[in-house]
Amino acid sequence: MNETKQKSADFVRQIIADDIQSGKNDGRVHTRFPPEPNGYLHIGHAKSICLNFGIANEFGGQCNLRFDDTNPTTEDVEYVESIQDDIRWLGFDWEDRLFFASDYFDRLYELAVELIKKGKAYVCSLAADQVSEYRGKWNEPGRNSPDRDRPIEENLDLFERMKNGEFPDGKYTLRAKIDMASNNMNLRDPALYRIRHERHHRTGDQWCIYPNYDWTHGQSDSFEGITHSICTLEFENHRPLYDWFLEQLGIHHPQQIEFAKLQISHVVTSKRRLLAMVNEGLVDGWDDPRMPTLRGLRRRGYTPESIRSLCQRVGVTKANSLTDYAWLEQAIREDLNKTAPRAMAVLNPLKVVIENYPEGQSEIRQAINNPEDPDAGTRDVPFGREIFIERSDFMEDAPKKFFRLAPGREVRLRYAYFLKCHDVVKDASGEITELRCTYDPETAGGKAPDGRKVKGTIHWVSAEHAIDATVRLYETLFTEPTPLNSPTGLDWKELINPNSLTELKSCKLEPSLGNANPGDRFQFERNGYFCVDTKDSTAEEMVFNRTVTLKDTWAKVKDKK
Ligand code: ATP
Ligand code: MG
Repeated sequence: MNETKQKSADFVRQIIADDIQSGKNDGRVHTRFPPEPNGYLHIGHAKSICLNFGIANEFGGQCNLRFDDTNPTTEDVEYVESIQDDIRWLGFDWEDRLFFASDYFDRLYELAVELIKKGKAYVCSLAADQVSEYRGKWNEPGRNSPDRDRPIEENLDLFERMKNGEFPDGKYTLRAKIDMASNNMNLRDPALYRIRHERHHRTGDQWCIYPNYDWTHGQSDSFEGITHSICTLEFENHRPLYDWFLEQLGIHHPQQIEFAKLQISHVVTSKRRLLAMVNEGLVDGWDDPRMPTLRGLRRRGYTPESIRSLCQRVGVTKANSLTDYAWLEQAIREDLNKTAPRAMAVLNPLKVVIENYPEGQSEIRQAINNPEDPDAGTRDVPFGREIFIERSDFMEDAPKKFFRLAPGREVRLRYAYFLKCHDVVKDASGEITELRCTYDPETAGGKAPDGRKVKGTIHWVSAEHAIDATVRLYETLFTEPTPLNSPTGLDWKELINPNSLTELKSCKLEPSLGNANPGDRFQFERNGYFCVDTKDSTAEEMVFNRTVTLKDTWAKVKDKK
């Protein structure tokens, strides 16, 4: 990945560069991306993926994909598959290193037995509410469980019987024996195993005790020979526990390094909340183009390059901050400006009849496919007596500074001629239904031989050749930058933007767009970047999603509050 080739640019890369220099881990670099398969990946995950896989690529190391699948009730193969697909789409490859924490259940169990034998873990009979009561508060020490000094033999016997399914859920837990007075709550005899008579999507009914995150994660890192275990800041105060387990067991000890999450404005990213939106029908699935999921962004028209570029720009730090949604938009705009072919499409059509253009005749105009890419060439665009222009490009009582079309005024039609408006046709309700205009056949090159000037250039589509299509326009999914913590005091679900989706029917597209395939991206001149929807677009009715507007419309979005 060229765009991430900034060795030692951030503190994580600095640590790794120093470790290589000092010969730690024999100079090896091995990272992992450890998603829990309980939802689809979102833009925040992209940052972690770019960081872990990016570092492996840059330092000649390896990065594993490991599913952290210890929670049988929320996990599903649907997510296991979508996550792999999304990581590949983003441009990264774990080669043959696909792992599942559930594959380590046997080894984890054996290590737990070892910990019991060392007198470092015990079976506790306190119920959940008692455990939290005994734990104490951050400013007051906890109390020891009455089972803390249970003899090793008894612990071994009970733990085995827990595994064998002799007890109901919640009857016992296996806890580490650390320090009930520790300042770090995570060290107050944390649970390692809970009894849960639940079927797991990979191990089936083999287990009825499941290891928790802390017990699973560090040991899995160790089994895989991970050198740098990179995670987000909320695990900072779990690090002493991560280290404690590995020290007690005396096995390979990776270094945990924490960085700040990527937080984007005007969205929520926690999988729990994304799932709620999907389940409650507030959006049209995980891949709704408004969603901050990789699926949603992809369907919206975002490229992997643009997402990697955003992650690189945001950087890797230890300080939490909020990244404006506008950054994401800017990243895709810059990418598509270079790569997206241009086309003309009229979203809110107004018919124009060119009275001096011969009836029954048409001609071909040449249009440039991409001014940013000289190799992209030109295309044929038909022009004729009847065309469509945008309603917003005409004003009946136009102010002086309105440089588009108005009665008696002249405008340039992109790649065609000067056009002058003479008459306005209205229906009974007073709505404008048609403009009567004339064109100047001498202005084919966009200039008048007599030197007269026009200020505005507008796009158009030939009525006879136009393709009708549905076009979806989007605004941010939420009206507030931080929906979970907004000054309105409203619940986040009430802050969903009612204008986040607008669907326009019977938009008029130039005929070359009829050859576009699902997923193809274009710049519709003056209207923004669009892509053919991969789900709903059909040969009969094409559907385009607006990926992003041409300019930053941020100020406009803000004004709407
Ligand atoms: P969520 O709270 O959104 O469900 P999670 O952290 O529980 O996220 P996991 O599947 O456990 O989701 O995350 C996999 C990896 O992605 C973890 O290493 C996690 O730290 C990282 N990650 C999750 N969200 C972000 C984010 N916003 N920015 C950077 N990394 C993230
Ligand atoms: Mg998680």
